[in-house]
Amino acid sequence: MINWLDDNKDLLGLTLAVLGLLVTAYTVLIARRSQRRDAFMRIHETLLQPEIQEGRRLLFNISRLEDVPALGTSEYHLINRALAMYDTLGHYVAQGYVSERHVLDVWHHSIRDIRAPAELFIAVRAARHRTSWKPWPYLRKLFDKAAAFRSIEDCCTPPDGG
Ligand SMILES: [Zn+2]
Repeated sequence: MINWLDDNKDLLGLTLAVLGLLVTAYTVLIARRSQRRDAFMRIHETLLQPEIQEGRRLLFNISRLEDVPALGTSEYHLINRALAMYDTLGHYVAQGYVSERHVLDVWHHSIRDIRAPAELFIAVRAARHRTSWKPWPYLRKLFDKAAAFRSIEDCCTPPDGG
């Protein structure tokens, strides 16, 4: 036994080093999954807050550019806040802070539903801005992702896309 260990010191050292690396990689992976899950829970809970829900509800009053509430009104503020939070969600997805699949699984219908009024709101916001700024690029990317997403659940029924 002693002889065998002596003869295979390098191999043993290498094996232990590889095992150490694997354990470290696994630990990092588990920690990252846990962090992403926590980030998902936080943004999910934020999107379910009454103020954000109200902003989303108000958004559905918009079917033409003229329907966008005047600057400075509480309606404008609430919609703005809700869309900014969706943009944050899109940013989290883009950065990998949360799982894109988890986000789309849970939010794809909500994101699809707000698209048309949100695009009107964005157009008005962009037109009112002093410099050339088009708001919420991450939200706009999220619109395309949500449109293309097909859930394995039975929520995506025709004519929504099947
Ligand atoms: Zn669906």
